[in-house]
Amino acid sequence: MDDCIFCKIIKGEIPSTKVYEDDRVVSFHDISPLAPVHVLTIPKKHIASVLEIGEEDKELIGHLHLVLQKVAKQMGVDESGFRVVTNVGVHGQQTVQHLHYHLLGGRQLQWEA
Ligand code: C5P
Repeated sequence: MDDCIFCKIIKGEIPSTKVYEDDRVVSFHDISPLAPVHVLTIPKKHIASVLEIGEEDKELIGHLHLVLQKVAKQMGVDESGFRVVTNVGVHGQQTVQHLHYHLLGGRQLQWEA
């Protein structure tokens, strides 16, 4: 997707601070962190949101969850706990239309849905 910010991050056309990368997934620090640890994990394949995940993506999404596990350990929040969130659509306040999972931690989180 030519006009997708996260596709540009994947291609290195927009800078980001990556904490993990493999052939299918990238994790990078959120540019506006909401917690001491705030990392976004995205598939390199352009998928707009959870609603667009297909049968063919099942292995990719499973792999992405294993990456979330690795990133949580790498960021040192696996023992204290953390939150994984993916926003969808208007009520979900999704602002970037490329599937991404926020990993938030490093402080006591509140539930403010
Ligand atoms: O869930 P939502 O779509 O709002 O999340 C998008 C996230 O992408 C925001 O937290 C925003 O700070 C982050 N972002 C980023 N780097 C960019 C553009 C957006 O980390 N260049």
